[in-house]
Amino acid sequence: MNFYDSEKMTDLLKPHGYQLDEHEDDADLIVLNTCHIREKAVEKTYSELGRIRDKINIRKAITGKRSIVAVAGCVAQAQGKEIMKRSPWVDIVVGPQSYQNLPELIAKVDPVNKNKNINIEFPTIPKFDQINANIQERGPSAFLTIQEGCDKFCTFCVVPYTRGAEYSRPLTSIIDEAKKLIDIGVREITLLGQNVNAWNSKGLNNEDWGLGKLIDELAKINELKFIRYTTSHPLDMDVELIKSHRDNKKLMPYLHLPAQSGSDYILKMMNRKHTAKEYLRIIEKVREYSPKIAISGDFIVGFPGETDKDHKLTLSLIKQVNYAQAYSFKYSKRPGTPGSVFLNHVNEDTKNCRLYEIQELLRSQQLAFNKKTINSIIKVLVLKKGKKKNQYIGRSPFNQSVYFSSLNESLIGSFIDLNITEAFQNSLTGNIVSDF
Ligand code: SAM
Ligand code: SF4
Repeated sequence: MNFYDSEKMTDLLKPHGYQLDEHEDDADLIVLNTCHIREKAVEKTYSELGRIRDKINIRKAITGKRSIVAVAGCVAQAQGKEIMKRSPWVDIVVGPQSYQNLPELIAKVDPVNKNKNINIEFPTIPKFDQINANIQERGPSAFLTIQEGCDKFCTFCVVPYTRGAEYSRPLTSIIDEAKKLIDIGVREITLLGQNVNAWNSKGLNNEDWGLGKLIDELAKINELKFIRYTTSHPLDMDVELIKSHRDNKKLMPYLHLPAQSGSDYILKMMNRKHTAKEYLRIIEKVREYSPKIAISGDFIVGFPGETDKDHKLTLSLIKQVNYAQAYSFKYSKRPGTPGSVFLNHVNEDTKNCRLYEIQELLRSQQLAFNKKTINSIIKVLVLKKGKKKNQYIGRSPFNQSVYFSSLNESLIGSFIDLNITEAFQNSLTGNIVSDF
């Protein structure tokens, strides 16, 4: 979602004379878009700010020009005043619900004196109306935020505090953005939300719609070929959406459905509101409708109170699901969340051992999933050139990176059938069967 927000900031600033620069050395404006989900990401913000201070000082000394520094995203939301105090060279702090105001905030920065601008409100007028106006360049694949915030309050998570209450963007605004993306050459859209499958809104004829209906509506856009969504919550995985995986050929056979833990005790302490068995039942249902679907997930290792027995239950759930790919993280204490004051925090060594065990298992499952595609023909969307001569990188319906070679110079954005010849941990290689 930060990637999407960064693209939107670029779009917003273009009419004001800014253009994207790969390097900060001679940038008039540096925007650091931050993440607050784990402590490591917060530490990174402050170390990046130190690096940026050095860059802007060097620029000032050489050219006499002063760079404006803005901090955006969830660290800005949670620690705005702290950032200003610890990093006085920062001019602007802007939260994820207020970045549509970035051009105004920049205009207010005094080029000589250092006046500070903080904007971390949750405005009542949705920002989407403002950020949708001027969509600039995208590749063949783009993100589209349809839902933000969260009302579920898992005890480990900062999202409800930094991104605010659950908000579903209206249907017309989403369709409008999707069509704009198609007009500039996008062929694959990934719908985004902290709980994307909690999306609900009034549909056509004023009916209540969920994500499944929205996807079916988007699929009517002819040039849009691949549709994805992330991240889903197990409780919002309704039958309509599950059926879309079977019936809607444009919806990719890939589901990212975080489990977090395989232990009912830990799930209860996390306030996930489902048991391991209920999670497995959802996966079973999804596979009943869409047998070849690639299942992905998230796991938190070492949540307070997690015992060896709880950890083994997580390993057992992973074995039962057999993931195509999944993410796992050490529990990170987040200020202000209930989990941070729970007793029985797990020590770092234990967390490291458990994480290693989980990741080894997930790695072996991912490799096995990838190997199953050898000798099959897979349609990929060509995303970009690779590092090697004549090499391209595409994405498979199962969300795998696929490398192939072609002398054709203009394949980016097209769909190509590849015969898969080799499979690795994180990628596949293939040969062209046909272009279409
Ligand atoms: N809403 C999705 C759900 O509930 O399944 C997940 C979205 S959350 C923004 C992304 C992932 O970050 C979570 O699934 C979780 O695994 C991880 N995460 C969140 N808070 C964390 C924490 N305090 N420590 C470690 N990982 C965390
Ligand atoms: Fe965070 Fe997801 Fe839980 Fe919401 S449902 S609090 S986003 S982990």
